[in-house]
Amino acid sequence: MLKGKSALVTGSTSGIGLAIARAFARDGADVMLNGFGDAAEIERVRAGIAGEFGVRAEYSPADMSKPEEIEAMVRAAEAAFGKVDILVNNAGIQFVSPIEEFPIDKWNAIIAINLSSAFHTMRAALPGMKQRGWGRIINTASAHALVASPFKAAYVAAKHGIAGLTKTAALETAQQGITVNAICPGYVWTPLVERQIPDTAKARGITEEEVKRDVLLAAQPTKEFVTVDEVAALAVFLASDAARSMTGSILTMDGGWTAA
Ligand code: NAD
Repeated sequence: MLKGKSALVTGSTSGIGLAIARAFARDGADVMLNGFGDAAEIERVRAGIAGEFGVRAEYSPADMSKPEEIEAMVRAAEAAFGKVDILVNNAGIQFVSPIEEFPIDKWNAIIAINLSSAFHTMRAALPGMKQRGWGRIINTASAHALVASPFKAAYVAAKHGIAGLTKTAALETAQQGITVNAICPGYVWTPLVERQIPDTAKARGITEEEVKRDVLLAAQPTKEFVTVDEVAALAVFLASDAARSMTGSILTMDGGWTAA
């Protein structure tokens, strides 16, 4: 279905981004991975995708907090594949703390990586998409693009921001064969969630088991974590021609969280 297309997925060395990159490759797209991690492990993942799915797989180590590296990554993808048809803005980090103790460098990093990086990738990739009259931009937002939780000021602000950026970009590209949508997952079991459990336990003065049950899954009526493959399947649909008329949509996949 995505044969002949090329995709750039930020933050795809782990979790949701890796599942999306693998799902695109399974569907025939060439993919450029991005993100941090052990170099040998990333190379194993990259070569594995190319071998398993018979597509081209590249990797960019660009830091999503650095605008010049972001632009260079988009140019590298265009150079490798001739074009970027599908852009997934997925890289993200979390930090949990009351506002008055929130470290300023953490605030700046979360706004840069979770929000501004999507502006920089779009700024670099949109001219090519407009020229070709086809493009798909998918932003991994969060249920926190629609509702808030205490102690996640920067994350909630960035994710609400990405919803606004998604809608604005959708309006600007609506007549040019380009769609821009955001996926808002609830809690998905990934390293990002696993890592925030100790800090949430500390901030709330409860055990890590209580964080899982009473904080995370308390918000999710299904009482189950969303899986990375479910999010990836929605991304594949949004990238397809069948989703041509969906643009500017803020789509939830949150086990009913934001229905409450
Ligand atoms: P993860 O920690 O497994 O993956 C994050 C990815 O981003 C990794 O590949 C990491 O290397 C990369 N990354 C981090 N900082 C980067 C930087 N400066 N430059 C480039 N890459 C960087 O996390 P995940 O849970 O898969 O999260 C992916 C996205 O999904 C994030 O935007 C997150 O906010 C969002 N999300 C996650 C959940 C969840 O419950 N896991 C829920 C809603 C939204």
